[in-house]
Amino acid sequence: MASGGGNNRNGTHRNSLKGTTTTSTVSTDKPLSVNSNPSKPAFKNKSSPLTGASSGLRKSSPGSLGGRAAKDDAGVPGRVRVAVRLRPRNAEESVADADFADCVELQPELKRLKLRKNNWDTDTYEFDEVLTEFASQKRVYEVVAKPVVEGVLDGYNGTIMAYGQTGTGKTYTLGRLGEEDTANRGIMVRAMEDILAEVSPEIDSVLVSYLQLYMESLQDLLDPTNDNISIVEEPKSGDVSLPGATLVEIRDQQSFLELLRLGEAHRHAANTKLNTESSRSHALLMVHVKRTVKGREPAHSSDNGNSTSMARSLRPPLVRKGKLVVVDLAGSERIDKSGSDGHTREEAKSINLSLSALGKCINALAENSAHVPVRDSKLTRLLRDSFGGTARTSLVITVGPSPRHRGETASTIMFGQRAMKVENMLKLKEEFDYKSLARRLDIQLDKLIMEHERKQKAFEVEIERITAEAQNRISEAERNYADAVEKERLKYQKDYMESIKKLEEKWMMNLQNQGNERKMVHIAEEVAEVKKLLSKETSLRKAAEEEVDNLKSQLAQLKMSEASANSEILKLRKMVEDEVCQKEKLEGEISMLQSQLLHLSFEADETRKRLDKGGPGKVPGRLDSPVSQVRSQLKDSGNGEKASVAKLFEQVGLQKILSLLEAEDADVRIHAVKVVANLAAEETNQQKIVEAGGLKSLLMLLGSSEDETIHRVAAGAIANLAMNEKNRELIMSQGGISLLSTTASHAKDPQTLRMVAGAIANLCGNDKLQTKLRGEGGIKALLEIVKCGHPDVLAQVARGIANFAKCESRAATQGSKTGRSLLIEDGALPWIVQNANSDASPIRRHNELALCHLAQHEVNAKDMISEGALWELVRISQDCPREDIRTLAHRTLASSPDFIAGLKRLRINY
Ligand code: ADP
Ligand code: MG
Repeated sequence: MASGGGNNRNGTHRNSLKGTTTTSTVSTDKPLSVNSNPSKPAFKNKSSPLTGASSGLRKSSPGSLGGRAAKDDAGVPGRVRVAVRLRPRNAEESVADADFADCVELQPELKRLKLRKNNWDTDTYEFDEVLTEFASQKRVYEVVAKPVVEGVLDGYNGTIMAYGQTGTGKTYTLGRLGEEDTANRGIMVRAMEDILAEVSPEIDSVLVSYLQLYMESLQDLLDPTNDNISIVEEPKSGDVSLPGATLVEIRDQQSFLELLRLGEAHRHAANTKLNTESSRSHALLMVHVKRTVKGREPAHSSDNGNSTSMARSLRPPLVRKGKLVVVDLAGSERIDKSGSDGHTREEAKSINLSLSALGKCINALAENSAHVPVRDSKLTRLLRDSFGGTARTSLVITVGPSPRHRGETASTIMFGQRAMKVENMLKLKEEFDYKSLARRLDIQLDKLIMEHERKQKAFEVEIERITAEAQNRISEAERNYADAVEKERLKYQKDYMESIKKLEEKWMMNLQNQGNERKMVHIAEEVAEVKKLLSKETSLRKAAEEEVDNLKSQLAQLKMSEASANSEILKLRKMVEDEVCQKEKLEGEISMLQSQLLHLSFEADETRKRLDKGGPGKVPGRLDSPVSQVRSQLKDSGNGEKASVAKLFEQVGLQKILSLLEAEDADVRIHAVKVVANLAAEETNQQKIVEAGGLKSLLMLLGSSEDETIHRVAAGAIANLAMNEKNRELIMSQGGISLLSTTASHAKDPQTLRMVAGAIANLCGNDKLQTKLRGEGGIKALLEIVKCGHPDVLAQVARGIANFAKCESRAATQGSKTGRSLLIEDGALPWIVQNANSDASPIRRHNELALCHLAQHEVNAKDMISEGALWELVRISQDCPREDIRTLAHRTLASSPDFIAGLKRLRINY
């Protein structure tokens, strides 16, 4: 029951319904137009939509109503349905009213009730349902309560209320337990039967509380100590709850019946205590039905795992909570305010309060009044959802037939008529149960995990099986293939053999056919011929085989002899090596003996001299040759004293030594030349050697010998001798230059070249011999020698050139020499310039000196400048470590006009 001003939603809908619901009474019942009072509306009824609404109530099915409502949060309009039930006359009335007609007349087929005003006038009212005195309890339940119960099971709140005068059958209609006769079961019992038949005990719940409202006090009929239960209203939703009331869960009909009995007993006890009748109090049975919507609950029933069911299972279960309130109101008759029935005036007021407040509210709602006094009583507060709220409400008004109670009956009918105008907005109480979803998902998840594991395993096994099968098939196919190939091969082979055989047979047959004797004879001859050839071949082969054997044995013998020859060769090699060793040893001995030779020869000479001087002991013949003398004494000279060469020279005599230079024995010659060379190294001996013809012998050796050692040592000796000025002339006059040049041209040893160069260098230092030396090719020989590149050799060459330049310079200064230097003439200048700054200091020093000497004479200047000597002279004048040369170079550069001009031209600041 909504408060008129506060509830916009209800107000709006009521307003909107105005268009379809005619609230004015219209006289549509033509036969009734003959009413005595036609001006007064004969019908107090609803217009045609009521009929539709009525049939809607009758045929209302939970599916269609719930389905629509679920989609519409605002709810669907649902007018309060009102049925009227007439109680049969009771015994008292049958007697008392025997002569009177009933005050009401029912036309159930027209859903009309006619209320007799007097003998000739009736008022006709239309109701949603008109139930005659013969209407069975079952039928009453079905038309009044069943649609509401079905709504509750679908999640709508529902109210079934009985209104009427005491004794008209409210309790009979609602509360009969039907113990004496099951056909008499009332609405409460039947409603619970239907509810229990629909709910699933595992997932749904049915909770019941049973209360009594008397004098604005709410008592718990299930717990009598609980006698002042407060009403809690949720301001947002407007829902009303009774937290203090006992809630009993109902699982079966029996326990519900017991609960009703218990409640009735408590009600009786309470009323006795309060000294009142049950007709003065209101009884309220509240049934809370919570159902999980099965259509949205596939997870428990289906495990097929498809996506739709997955998606559905992810949705929380939908629960619908419907509350059924069955109200057995107190009797509608007015309480005697005089207090004649034992109540005080105030009590009477209080007893009537709730009922009259309900009437006022319904009036307000029916008239679409702005204010609905819901809060005026506890009953109206409790029923705020039933009238003008969201519940589907069905009201049964009970009337008795007695004309004596016509006034109360009329009042009851008017109440019903007003209630029919009350429009509710039916609203589905549906919500998601997230907790149970979570629980369910957990279970489902575990199931899925298990299932997945199972499937995975099965999948793996299947894969293995398929793989193995495939492997088998492959190997079988391979085997089959190999077999087929083999079979095919054998077949072809067989065919081939057979065709060959056939061909052979054919051939043989052909042969036979063609063959005649002549041919056969010819063949026989041929065969004989072939046989002969064969035997010849065989004998030849035998011979060849014998030959091969022979050769083989020869080869083996050869191999054996080769092996023995090899060992012989090895032996011989060894012997050769031994010989070589021996030879070396002997050579060593020989050289040792040779050194002793001279000594012995000297001794022998001495002995002979002594003998010649007349001494006895002359041994002629034995001393004819010094060599033989030496040799004859070799055996005796084991440890002769070792004399120095000088001593040897003194002892042996120069002549003797020189004579050995011509000895036939090459070794002796070499030894002798060495001795001579050593002697020549000493100045004191030089003259003696030359006088004794040593120089001549040495020069001769250069020409005659082919031994390079002799060449080297002899050249060295000549060089030593050439240190003496007189000797130089002798050397020159005896063709020394050309002999030395030839020696140089054959030399391989740089030391030989060094000796030769040294000798020529010494010869260069002679003023008189300059022209001759040059004429005999001395300078050219030196320039030839430099090709060997050995620094020692080059140093000797440079020395020779410097000597030459010095002498030339001297001669030029003295005036005995004119013209360009012979060195320049012979092309020595480039070499001099090139080596004037050599790294080897002897070469550098000699060349520097040579350049300085050459520069002294203006006649050489041009060549020197053109050969680049000017640079060297400048360098010498600045860098030469020898001061005299430095000064000489400087002076020359400063005095020579050509050099001065050259310096200028080369832009050398000097
Ligand atoms: P209320 O509850 O309205 O005071 P009750 O249900 O107590 O009335 O009914 C009064 C009497 O009438 C009871 O004895 C009941 O058995 C009887 N009665 C009521 N309605 C019927 C009916 N439809 N058929 C037979 N008896 C009825
Ligand atoms: Mg009653």
